[in-house]
Amino acid sequence: MIMKNGLTRGLKGAMLKRMHGMITCREFEEFVSKHLDGELPAKQAKMFEWHLRICRECREYLAAYRRAMEIGKTVLGPAHESVPEDVPEDLIKAVLESRKE
Ligand SMILES: [Zn+2]
Repeated sequence: MIMKNGLTRGLKGAMLKRMHGMITCREFEEFVSKHLDGELPAKQAKMFEWHLRICRECREYLAAYRRAMEIGKTVLGPAHESVPEDVPEDLIKAVLESRKE
């Protein structure tokens, strides 16, 4: 196998699996949404942060994910003009409430 751009994700995953307490990039991706919702258990959160420190790809992944979330919030934000007038205010409020972190 020729590796031009460093380790492939799969190979790195195999390496990380062998290191104690490490998660793979795949597991990292699964943890991201939970982490942002604050639902990640302390033990997983630690592994998540550790992986973030050693893995540039996942730092970029998280940054992109956060940006996407920000865009989503902006679109659904109360100041946005495109909210249809016929949507009940209570419903909008409920949606916004459910999206708060
Ligand atoms: Zn990673």
